[in-house]
Amino acid sequence: MALLQPVTPRELHGRRKLEVFAPATLERLGEIEVASADDVREAVARGRAAQADWSARSFEERGRFLLRVRDLLVDQADAIADVICRDTGKPRLEAMTSEILGACDSLTFYAKNAKRLLRDEKKRLHLMKTKKLVLSYRPMGVVGIITPWNFPFLLALNPSVQALAAGNCVVLKPSEITPFVGLALAELFAQAGLPANVFQVVTGDGATGAALVDSGCDKISFTGSVRTGRKIAEACGRALVPCTLELGGKDPMIVCGDADLERAARGAVWGAFTNAGQVCMSTERVYVVEPVAQAFTERVVALTRELRQGPETEGDVDLGAITSPAQLEIIEQHVADALAKGAKVLTGGRRNPAFKGLFFEPTVLVDVNHEMAIMREETFGPCLPIQVVRDEDEAVRLANESVYGLQASVWTRDSWKGKRLANRIAAGGVVVDDCIITYGIAESPFGGVKESGIGRVNGELGLKSYCHVQSIVLPRLRGKRELLWYPYSAKTLGLVKRALHLLYRSPLGKLLGS
Ligand code: NAD
Repeated sequence: MALLQPVTPRELHGRRKLEVFAPATLERLGEIEVASADDVREAVARGRAAQADWSARSFEERGRFLLRVRDLLVDQADAIADVICRDTGKPRLEAMTSEILGACDSLTFYAKNAKRLLRDEKKRLHLMKTKKLVLSYRPMGVVGIITPWNFPFLLALNPSVQALAAGNCVVLKPSEITPFVGLALAELFAQAGLPANVFQVVTGDGATGAALVDSGCDKISFTGSVRTGRKIAEACGRALVPCTLELGGKDPMIVCGDADLERAARGAVWGAFTNAGQVCMSTERVYVVEPVAQAFTERVVALTRELRQGPETEGDVDLGAITSPAQLEIIEQHVADALAKGAKVLTGGRRNPAFKGLFFEPTVLVDVNHEMAIMREETFGPCLPIQVVRDEDEAVRLANESVYGLQASVWTRDSWKGKRLANRIAAGGVVVDDCIITYGIAESPFGGVKESGIGRVNGELGLKSYCHVQSIVLPRLRGKRELLWYPYSAKTLGLVKRALHLLYRSPLGKLLGS
């Protein structure tokens, strides 16, 4: 079935515009201007001019701005949630929790902790005892941030907050599917009184994103698909600009024989269907060991049938819309491919005919295998395929049989067994007896291995990724010359040879730890 294209490029008076539609109702929301390459370059230049002053301010002062943004966000939470719900079609509760509450936590954490996390580090030197080493974390300059539509508020705000707290200026390019959320963010930062051009938003589509990558930014922070991530990595490689890539996932869930089945079933249903499955770390495939498979699956199906879907956004709906029409087509293709190859749908399996907007029923599938796209490729929709496995070893093997490696979950009553299994899974993070929470833990670095991305956001590691580390070597002792400076001599050569032996081949060297 042909889908209405909610985003349609149009030429108006020589300038390109995009129309934006609400996915839950297909109502036209308005249009945005597409920023040209010149617009983007000018924004980056303005950011560069503003950055010296911003980075010269103290952590406390930058933190005060961020806390003002947070306070305004709390005061305007309902109005911001309106924009998020309209642009994405998600239930209001999800807008309030994963987007707004998550954003408030990010603003608070980095406002209060950036100074501690980025303080100079003094290092003891094992060999050059006449020197001291200090590592200093310096801002990079202007950071270009490019974001997707699934959590358009949090995924735009959170990297921006980290970049700003570290002393950078930001140019954000939000998704063209949910641009009004990006503009609401710009308005919030402006109301908080941030100095001009410290945080700027340029709207547009992939061409605007590509222009930002080519605009001379000092770093690109990208969250989105593997397909776009590759293009960005190539462009950043050519320009020798560092980038962080937070890409897609196909997160496995392993249900062990000793799992609390009620908790595991509830966790599976939430992990697969929250945000209508449009979460990079959604539970996208389940491996359950044979002895508990039937009981687990029956409970999952029963709980899934209780879910309420629709365009309501006032707290009495569990599943919202599919935000992007292209994604809805992928979901339909994955289910059709699985059915053609022998899978069975136990509940759901189609677009929800009760609604005009873009809704797909929460779907549970069994008799699936790795020949099917639904077990290999990112579905990014409300689908929960369940594969029965002999034992935990087979579950780990299948979990790792993937080009992705974002996150994973292991369900067992034995936490240490969960930890051991976690260590065997090739993923950027693993949760035992829960799922989808790592991004919300401010202290935890977040990111993927394999095609799920490069680099980490969040926590100390993520914050430091918006800095370059500067090594500063200081003297402890000063003479007129150093031993290894000119003039070279036979005496110095003899000293070096004796030192070589003493350090690496003598009992004294061993005592010194060489
Ligand atoms: P997308 O790659 O289509 O678009 C993301 C952003 O990139 C948009 O703003 C888009 O305009 C821009 N863009 C497109 N082409 C570009 C180009 N050539 N150069 C620069 N920018 C360009 O992704 P999407 O469909 O918006 O988002 C869904 C994807 O995001 C899923 O794969 C999901 O797994 C992933 N995602 C990952 C994380 C994570 O943290 N790992 C979080 C959320 C979403």
